[in-house]
Amino acid sequence: QKHEELKRLDKKHFLHPTSSLKQQQEEGPAFIFTEGEGIYLKDIQGRKLMDSLSSLWNVNIGHGRKELGEVAMQQMGTLAFSSAFSAWSHEPVIRLAAKIAEMTPGNLNTTFFTSGGSEANDTAFKTVRHYWKLKGQPEKKKIVSRKKSYHGLAMGATSATGLQPFRDFTTSLAQDFHYVESTVESLRQLIEEQGADTIAAFISEPIQGSGGVNVAPVGYFQEVRRICDENDILFIADEVITGFGRTGKTFGMDHYDVVPDIMCIAKGVSSGYAPLGGMVISEDIHQELIDLSDGIFMHGYTYSGHPMCCAVAMKNIEIIERENLIENVRVMGDQMLQGFNWLEKEHDLVCNVRGLGLLGAIGLQSKTEEQLAPKVVNEALKRGLICRAVLYDGQDTLAFAPPFIINKQEMDEMITILHESLIAVEKDL
Ligand code: PLP
Repeated sequence: QKHEELKRLDKKHFLHPTSSLKQQQEEGPAFIFTEGEGIYLKDIQGRKLMDSLSSLWNVNIGHGRKELGEVAMQQMGTLAFSSAFSAWSHEPVIRLAAKIAEMTPGNLNTTFFTSGGSEANDTAFKTVRHYWKLKGQPEKKKIVSRKKSYHGLAMGATSATGLQPFRDFTTSLAQDFHYVESTVESLRQLIEEQGADTIAAFISEPIQGSGGVNVAPVGYFQEVRRICDENDILFIADEVITGFGRTGKTFGMDHYDVVPDIMCIAKGVSSGYAPLGGMVISEDIHQELIDLSDGIFMHGYTYSGHPMCCAVAMKNIEIIERENLIENVRVMGDQMLQGFNWLEKEHDLVCNVRGLGLLGAIGLQSKTEEQLAPKVVNEALKRGLICRAVLYDGQDTLAFAPPFIINKQEMDEMITILHESLIAVEKDL
């Protein structure tokens, strides 16, 4: 039978990203997905599941958009690939870079493209160090990030990631990375200890995603922006999850009226229909790189500005605008938070519900040491809902990021399944 064959081949030949290898060997894949439509996924056994995390916080316009397939086919049929290295270019990359400049705040006007978020962050780290070197300050090279942050798993991105287990996976990381608590005092103290003339940049997600959907304290980013300006430290916003509407505004930093010097994007730029990311830099930085450089921008990937990925991203953005999806994020985000608040009232287990737009989380409190989120995830799966447990740093949290197209009835269904799942877990305690 095909299902059994695929399971056997999966176990033997496919090393799953971020997975429990032993469990994978013993049980094989829990789901082999075959189709997606709207906010639902279907697996090989015909099970239909609501995808409350937009897969990996990325399938923002929902599954099964034929229009994107058509654009990809069209682009592949005309110009499947052409390098954008050096002086070569093509229309999809030019159009997309111009569109991103139109959408981003301030004078963030120039984009370097990558295949995903990790490469975007690695690119930003190399670029800020290069920038300070050009400005005659090669010692200004330290990168500061926040504890519980997630910036991806390339070498630089792993080094910036505040969630310790990702860094502990390997022995030697990139140099000159430092971590602060999410307070202004912690950043000030680090600058005092290390010296501003050794710090190149501060990087932060507007809302920490993988670390548990943690919203920063009120006034935090405005103050951080001020501190960065006072100390000549560049501010990098990692908008990989929050970009392109996830929080109910085009970018997460828009909620705080903070304009970063560099913005990193991925996920929502193409809603996962094609692998794409990028680093958007301010006009000032761009100009300095031009004026001060006597050489080449010695950084680039084969797939920097892949024509098909750029064409798909452009269409994705067109759909977000055409269907007014960011407005739906706001409306459905309010409904999601109301639902979470109701769950908190109904269940002693639930605490600390939070969210902004369609990015939200539910905290769980167990009377014992046992973490409850995996149990709720299991019960929810039985009832047809995929949701994600966040267990880092002793947390016990469920994270949610449903597709922007979710409607009122589907949101009700999601909350009802969570309610029933929590009841089932409570019964077992
Ligand atoms: N930055 C943030 C905030 C992310 O959430 C992620 C991925 O989840 C990344 C960077 C890394 O992106 P990628 O997995 O595309 O390399």
